[in-house]
Amino acid sequence: MKIVVLKFGGTSVGTIQKIKKVADIIASYKRKNYKVIVISSAMSGVTNNLIKKSYQISDNFSDAEHDILVSSGEQMACSFIAGRLIHKGYKSRSWISWQVPIITVGPYKNARINQINKKEIIKYLREGGIPIITGFQGVNYENRITTIGRGGSDASAIMFAKFFKAQRCVIYTDVEGVYTTDPNKLKKAKKIKEISYEEMLEMASLGAKVMQPVSIQDARLNRIDIEVRSSYKKKSGTLITKKSNINSNKIITGISSTQNDSKVSLIGVRDRPGVAAAIFKPLSLNSINVDMVVQNISANGKETDLTFTIKTEDLNKTKKIIQLNKKINFRKLIFEKNVSKISIIGVGMITTPGVTFRMFQTLANKRINIKVISTSEIKISVLIDKKNSQKALTSLHKEFELN
Ligand code: ADP
Ligand code: ASP
Ligand code: MG
Repeated sequence: MKIVVLKFGGTSVGTIQKIKKVADIIASYKRKNYKVIVISSAMSGVTNNLIKKSYQISDNFSDAEHDILVSSGEQMACSFIAGRLIHKGYKSRSWISWQVPIITVGPYKNARINQINKKEIIKYLREGGIPIITGFQGVNYENRITTIGRGGSDASAIMFAKFFKAQRCVIYTDVEGVYTTDPNKLKKAKKIKEISYEEMLEMASLGAKVMQPVSIQDARLNRIDIEVRSSYKKKSGTLITKKSNINSNKIITGISSTQNDSKVSLIGVRDRPGVAAAIFKPLSLNSINVDMVVQNISANGKETDLTFTIKTEDLNKTKKIIQLNKKINFRKLIFEKNVSKISIIGVGMITTPGVTFRMFQTLANKRINIKVISTSEIKISVLIDKKNSQKALTSLHKEFELN
């Protein structure tokens, strides 16, 4: 069977008018004799709204109830799409996760798709039907609804492509593809024709919201090519694929930046084995995601300073946890909101010396102070004041010839 998986994001199904357009796109694949599986996200704003309301019910809203609540947005969008296709004369119906079922493992809010039952969907495809399936959600072994992390419909699409051995997996979104940096932040951003899983994974993890990181990991593991393209414009998009398929001589492929980060520093921490574990264990038990971590070399062998970054929404919780932690001693605790992480990403830096220097010099020329640095084989990240992030993005984009 010639199967294609099409995923539509929140803005693509954000209004009734846009849903009609989505139905036209789906119909165009059907006319090309594809068996079409559609994965939809919720209409834009719906998931955020539900989360906001849950906070009004309780500042400690149950995780399991959170999942059943926020998964409801996808149900609505799927029924609208199926309804429009039926209106156009096609055979279509919506499926929510437990009806398939899409089986997940792992915790509420952050489950992973483990298995998808193909039987009913295959039968429906053979009958000429177009199944419209809720992204972002699944059902666990206790028969309860789960969700798979914000932006998770991307991962739903990849897993459908995997289980149904789809020939194509197309992510339809509100931009024309993956750009060198967020095109909504920098006008000079350029569309990337092809990008490797590794680079896309770094870009996504470092703030490029266009693809959810888990989905890229799943695609890489299963060698699934992904096309990212616009729901509004009939233009070619970006292919996310394996490294050996790509021909590029660029050193840097893209630049990502984060919003809402905060920096936490513990000054004068008693330096003894196990101290870092004592600091981070309670944070991890409270599902606080710690990002950049730097520990200074202890000058006197007794005390050290430790700095790390978290999402600003976790700042108050983090403060409380550290202040109540009886297992650590420190002299001073410093918090800094409004920092931003800027990262340059590219496999080209493996073989090109001097990239780190060029990045630091560019920032120095703009008088931008670097607070924390972290690197991997294919990325360099720096933490700077958020007010400088646009300036940093613009100058680095130019320096590495991405304009
Ligand atoms: P969807 O609702 O379709 O899933 P998202 O809002 O999750 O769409 O992702 C698309 C958005 O990602 C774009 O509107 C854009 O602002 C943002 N974005 C961030 N970095 C990039 C990038 N490097 N390339 C393209 N888009 C990016
Ligand atoms: N609707 C979900 C969210 O807003 C899933 C998605 O958009 O992919 O996170
Ligand atoms: Mg998304």
